[in-house]
Amino acid sequence: MKKISSILALFVALLFGLMACSKNTSSSSSDKLKVVTTNSIIADMTKNIAGDKIDLHSIVPVGQDPHEYEPLPEDVKKTSQADLIFYNGINLETGGNAWFTKLIKNANKEENKDYFAVSDGVDVIYLEGQNEAGKEDPHAWLNLENGILYAKNIAKHLIEKDPKNKDFYEKNLASYTEKLNKLDQEAKQSFNNIPADKKMIVTSEGCFKYFSKAYGVPSAYIWEINTEEEGTPDQIKTLVEKLRKTKVPALFVESSVDERPMQTVSTDTKIPIYAKIFTDSIAKEGETGDSYYSMMKWNLEKISQGLQQ
Ligand SMILES: [Zn+2]
Repeated sequence: MKKISSILALFVALLFGLMACSKNTSSSSSDKLKVVTTNSIIADMTKNIAGDKIDLHSIVPVGQDPHEYEPLPEDVKKTSQADLIFYNGINLETGGNAWFTKLIKNANKEENKDYFAVSDGVDVIYLEGQNEAGKEDPHAWLNLENGILYAKNIAKHLIEKDPKNKDFYEKNLASYTEKLNKLDQEAKQSFNNIPADKKMIVTSEGCFKYFSKAYGVPSAYIWEINTEEEGTPDQIKTLVEKLRKTKVPALFVESSVDERPMQTVSTDTKIPIYAKIFTDSIAKEGETGDSYYSMMKWNLEKISQGLQQ
């Protein structure tokens, strides 16, 4: 028995040696908790809490739309092997083509055992458009209070699966939520001085409902959610007519959508696109907005500056 296990150990060692040669993988990661997240925002929150204690794979690449996605073979493999999977829920990855629902079924994973919605406990807002009425609006993270709730949910499940690192996760959670809470307090003051007829966030997708409610800034959009048709002539016309009744000085466009429909709105209304903002993805690594905290800070600054013109 001893001989067999030592042969096996040698075989495993050789295999890992080969893997290390063929691909520059980090060694000694095999005993870490394997965690998969569906998008870059949830991945960043998880990194803030778990640091290097886990092996993390995030599915939807930075800058891409998390509503509709086709997982790659690598995503399927990592999901099957994962100890813990985090997704947003409330009609994000499970809306539209329901890519996450299919992925998780193929990987044979169980809800609330293997995979968890980080939005659990959010006070859900519902969509209002003709095609989407009654469905959940997924963009809860754009209210920092919900971001804090996400972080707490992430920490809770990390601790359940990996109790030996409990203190580490709790300490990181405490400093992370403190930082987010401070930004949330600043955000609540940000828009006080903007006149009512200028106070409106205009984006391509109607993703700012949670933000609007939290920070008291109404929002308008071309299409309500990325799973419906994006930028039809009718959608553009409706927004242009709405904007003509306001003095809104700035439009915004999200980093993870086609910019052209908003450019058309800008041409038709002569209101400039003030900045690119981050809603469904963080920015590329090394750029401003490359974390949840930094994307929220950027959005708050740009929206507040743009509307004060
Ligand atoms: Zn979205």
